[in-house]
Amino acid sequence: MRNQASAPQANALPSAAEGCPRCKAIKATRYEAVRQGDKHTAAAMAEAMGLHQRAAHS
Ligand SMILES: [Zn+2]
Repeated sequence: MRNQASAPQANALPSAAEGCPRCKAIKATRYEAVRQGDKHTAAAMAEAMGLHQRAAHS
C-alpha cells in the first residue's frame, strides 16, 4: 500500500509552477514574443505549451 494520494503523477515532470525547464523556455519565448508584438510566435508558443503540457505533465 502506497501513501502517494497527493501525488498520483509522481513520475511525471514537475509542473510549470515547480520549474519545468521546458515550460520555462516556452514561457520565456512567448513572453519575449508578446513584448515585441510578435503575435505569430506568441500564438505558436501558446500552442507549444499546450502540447508540451499534455505530453509531459498529464
Ligand atoms: Zn513542462
